[in-house]
Amino acid sequence: MTFDYDLFVIGGGSGGVRAARVAAQGGAKVALAEEDRYGGTCVIRGCVPKKLMVFASEYPAAIADAQAYGWTVHAGGFDWSVFQGKLHAELDRLENVYRGILKTNGVESFDARARLVDPHTVELSDGSRKSAKHILIATGGRPVKPDLPGAEHAITSNDIFHLESLPKSILIIGGGYIACEFACILNGLGVKVTQFYRGAQILRGFDEEARGLVSEEMIQSGVNLHLGTNIVDMVEEESGYRVTSTNGSEEVFEQVMFATGRAPNTEDLGLEAAGVKTGRKGEILVDEYSQTAVPSVYAIGDVTDRVNLTPVAIREGMAFVETVFNGTPTPVDHDLIPTAIFTQPEMGTVGLSEEAAREQEPIEVYATSFRPMQTAFAERPDRVLMKLIVSQKTRKVLGCHIVAPGAGEMIQLAGIAVKMGATKEDFDRTVAVHPTMSEELVTMKTPVRTG
Ligand code: NDP
Repeated sequence: MTFDYDLFVIGGGSGGVRAARVAAQGGAKVALAEEDRYGGTCVIRGCVPKKLMVFASEYPAAIADAQAYGWTVHAGGFDWSVFQGKLHAELDRLENVYRGILKTNGVESFDARARLVDPHTVELSDGSRKSAKHILIATGGRPVKPDLPGAEHAITSNDIFHLESLPKSILIIGGGYIACEFACILNGLGVKVTQFYRGAQILRGFDEEARGLVSEEMIQSGVNLHLGTNIVDMVEEESGYRVTSTNGSEEVFEQVMFATGRAPNTEDLGLEAAGVKTGRKGEILVDEYSQTAVPSVYAIGDVTDRVNLTPVAIREGMAFVETVFNGTPTPVDHDLIPTAIFTQPEMGTVGLSEEAAREQEPIEVYATSFRPMQTAFAERPDRVLMKLIVSQKTRKVLGCHIVAPGAGEMIQLAGIAVKMGATKEDFDRTVAVHPTMSEELVTMKTPVRTG
């Protein structure tokens, strides 16, 4: 049987574009369809614009520190329209880079929505049909809002980059990555931020001590964080939205943002008709090679709801090409993935939390929390945390948790050691880089807890 293409990719985000490019570079005839902007969540409405907003939001603290160090400087005001103009120009540039990558590698791209018709055929929004030996679904995910009165007025992380002006006040609902990152960003930009999280502590699933410190630092820097609190409803008023909370209070906010999780983009993709199975949240079910229930159809990235991080989607895309086009079945290694939450301070983490490790085996916990030199000199009360979880039996470092400015950069490097199976003694044998914050990772001598 002959096909139009060896591979048809649905979705032009980080995972889909990488898989398309690498397959085409290996000689496969590849096409890709994207209904929205090339670059997907990460480039257009996620990691990249978010990180640029993080940078923008950190200047007031940096200017205050500069004053404490003897500089005569004044912050003046933040001009959202100047920043926004540059931001969107940068996103346009990056989108063009993504389009260019496809073009220069001979991938035919269609600016269209695609859906499966059968295991080897997709239909584009103009009604044309394309056949392919393999189909890769990389359609990502989208933010979801809970179904409550007035929720249609609220924004999500998708909208934040397009606001005409920054609100004076905002209520952010949720306690995950996105809620906490935007609470810090907007607080840094001078917006009065209130955050409701329904649970006992933000960043559920992460190391208890680490998330506790992030929470304390967020409150200290001005985020009005309400734990054990949720929104009941919101009603539009002249000056904003009147929100009633589960603790009975009412307050008016200029904007309300839901950061209450994301759902896989699997609606109206023709999955059922083609025989592709989905799970409870609508995610595409795949095996360790990203193969779906239909042998010719694979899926990678957030649409599979495994580990929803850009570098993981890219890995999954590369492993897919190795498996399907290079004859080397390559399962994706989802173990010991370092990650960072770009709160202020950042949290970098790899491996098990103290709580998860203790469930697994007897451990030693090494931790130190202190005021780092740079901000202590500026008389800021900020604290940082360096923490290692060590297996009593194997001496391996099972988890490393850092809460500090630059923790994302630090955990990338610590992650190599942890992934290699470094022991506590390997860390100890490494000479400290002095004076740094991360030197504490190799100088902690006595466990603070065992068991
Ligand atoms: P998360 O799933 O991490 O967090 C969702 C939050 O919303 C949780 O605190 C959850 O509470 C809460 N929530 C869910 N439903 C409701 C509801 N009905 N009412 C009130 N609160 C609710 O989702 P995010 O959207 O923050 O992030 C999605 C994913 O994107 C992350 O898991 C991560 O993989 C990725 N991401 C990564 C980033 C990075 O690497 N820096 C940055 C941003 C996103 P509860 O805990 O009680 O369930």
